[in-house]
Amino acid sequence: MTAISIPDDSLFGVDNLPYGVFSTAGTDPRIGVRVGDHVVDLAAALGDDVFAQPTLNAFMAQGRDRWIDVRARITALVAGDIADDAVHAVEDVTMHLPIAVADYVDFYASENHASNLGRLFRPQNPDPLMPNWKHLPVGYHGRSSTVVASGVDIVRPRGQRKGPNDEAPVFGPSVRLDIEAEMGFIVGVGSPMGSSITPDRFAEHCFGAVILNDWSARDIQAWEYVPLGPNLGKSFATSISPWVVPLLALEAARIDTPVQDPTPLPYLQGDEKWGLDIDLAVEWNGEIVTRPPYAQMYWSPAQMLAHTTVNGAAASTGDLFGSGTISGPEKNQRGAFIELTWGGAEPVTVAGEERTFLQDGDEVSISATAPGVNGGRIGFGEVRARILPAD
Ligand code: CA
Repeated sequence: MTAISIPDDSLFGVDNLPYGVFSTAGTDPRIGVRVGDHVVDLAAALGDDVFAQPTLNAFMAQGRDRWIDVRARITALVAGDIADDAVHAVEDVTMHLPIAVADYVDFYASENHASNLGRLFRPQNPDPLMPNWKHLPVGYHGRSSTVVASGVDIVRPRGQRKGPNDEAPVFGPSVRLDIEAEMGFIVGVGSPMGSSITPDRFAEHCFGAVILNDWSARDIQAWEYVPLGPNLGKSFATSISPWVVPLLALEAARIDTPVQDPTPLPYLQGDEKWGLDIDLAVEWNGEIVTRPPYAQMYWSPAQMLAHTTVNGAAASTGDLFGSGTISGPEKNQRGAFIELTWGGAEPVTVAGEERTFLQDGDEVSISATAPGVNGGRIGFGEVRARILPAD
């Protein structure tokens, strides 16, 4: 039997307990929970086959009462001794995509980001925000089949682009490949077609959160996005972190959103606070270049889920929705390189080299932390990937 010792400053203490899907050499992927620098095999430790599966979906579908019950059982489990074969050192495991992604929708909830992108993409418009932006959480449907786990390399996409001074479009590898630092929210319990989820029912439906990197080819995006929004400029890959932090672990991170003026329509209003005090950090080739603050996001994830379903669209276990790029008011809080370098006009120095957009071989890692209920911090881990040359 093993007693897990958790370092005092661990971001994975008993107030976190994130779920992931892991394997060890020669074994099948299954569900574990991270405790300090260890991963506890839940099927082995709790003797419950729902955790022997290669995704969290079946467990998530069991609903919030069950999430609360299992969290209590894990808390009790890790306070005592655990069977040796149910405990693995985190360096001995391989992490996998934690969920089977159903639908994927990406929002655009940061006023700073939407304003900056408006200035960069539509400099002729006096107001950088479109007229709908403060009335509804703007989003588009992304491609769920290309959501990948942290560690999966990203191949530079090819596509069409046409610069403002080009006579005709050209085809080739993107020359303005970018990131978007976001949080992703995962639906555990869906809602049938014809019904909707109000903002105050969010906690019954949302299982937890991950860090999300919405890779974006700005040159492809700029040419294709009018009038129906992004498509191939983003559909080639989206990376998520392997540990799903349960919503139940984010109680101390809940805050009010910024003041919403004009007052949103009633279907977007609720009594529960679902702003979240999460701090992100983006590393480019090992150097932190920006620290986006989630606390500044204008629309809450509860409002995004309410908006997604208000027309009667179904929600499903495994639905993933991205917050949109997280950008604060300061330059070193911008969550995309197109903003950080102002469209490439203001290069940043990264590990001694000037950079605007991503080069082949570059590596990006996004990490995040939040207040925990015991007074310390809890971590989301990281989402990391390297850029490979176009095929
Ligand atoms: Ca995005």
